[in-house]
Amino acid sequence: MIRTIEAIIGEINKVKNIIVVGHIMPDGDDISSVLSLTMGLEKFGKNVRAVIDDKIPGYLEEFPFVKEKIKSYDCISKFPAELIISVDASSPDRIGRVYDHFKYARSVVIDHHATNTYFGNVNWVDRFGATAQMVLRLNRMLEIEYDSDLATANLLGIATDTGFFRYSNTDATVFEDVAWLVSKGGKIGLISNMILENKPLEHLKLYKDFLDEMKLENNNSIAYSHITLDMLKKYNILPKDSPSFVGELRAIKGVEVAITFSEAEPNVYHVSMRSKDWFDVSKVAVHFGGGGHPRAAGFSKETDNLEKLEKDVVRTIMSLMESYK
Ligand code: 5GP
Ligand code: MN
Ligand code: MN
Repeated sequence: MIRTIEAIIGEINKVKNIIVVGHIMPDGDDISSVLSLTMGLEKFGKNVRAVIDDKIPGYLEEFPFVKEKIKSYDCISKFPAELIISVDASSPDRIGRVYDHFKYARSVVIDHHATNTYFGNVNWVDRFGATAQMVLRLNRMLEIEYDSDLATANLLGIATDTGFFRYSNTDATVFEDVAWLVSKGGKIGLISNMILENKPLEHLKLYKDFLDEMKLENNNSIAYSHITLDMLKKYNILPKDSPSFVGELRAIKGVEVAITFSEAEPNVYHVSMRSKDWFDVSKVAVHFGGGGHPRAAGFSKETDNLEKLEKDVVRTIMSLMESYK
């Protein structure tokens, strides 16, 4: 691990202009990793463009420094990048059009997904709870000074990818990193208020419809439901701001696997899967062309037959469940 970080530092030291890129459908760890690496590299004296080739959900857009620092694809069209650092993305398709620029620059991949395809010139893929923990290690090796803003930005991803320190990826390094970041002024209260206590009322109304559509399978061990564009429209919710409620389904007693099918564009569904204790949902995601972690994974699929897609996914999970017996 140390040697890989040293190789990354070698790449950084050689250049002036760096693109930091996060994944499409950005989540808290992605935003946090992009933001804290960008802030760190700027403190290190580099010219940095932070880019995500997708819309950012409202609750993350409101987070300090996001609007100011993270821009859309156009911001890199004339930027003479010598190095591109991808964070929290497991494969090239996850960074959208930014991957086209890999032809013209050196590239570094920093990620914590076991399904990573090693698509950079230098790849640091490790089993941390959050990519933000890896950025913290890189920043600390670069001897970046942490103030309260940087500590808060870096803390965000560790909090969100561990479900606020509840999931099984919450190991001792998570608590060590959090203790260190809080000692530097990281505001965990601000993060939990912005992420957990900031739900638009319309999301709760949508949740009622989502529950009405929920189905249980395999002796109630699989719970699934969907959010269609029509359901979002009813409550004036934009697709980029769509909640997934997949955690709520997993929380049901007896449920091992929860799935939410969310229509992102007409007839294009993002499928989010979560498991509670033993089932590896990343295998299902890879089977359908996506990726992720054993307890949280996903993929996207184009279809005009949602019911068939639901059945295919549930059937695949049920047959994989058989192989555990
Ligand atoms: P979510 O269900 O929250 O969208 O994603 C859960 C996990 O699966 C995340 O770690 C995310 O990076 C991964 N994931 C979700 N969708 C995809 C996808 O389409 N492709 C890949 N490779 N990973 C995905
Ligand atoms: Mn992510
Ligand atoms: Mn992550």
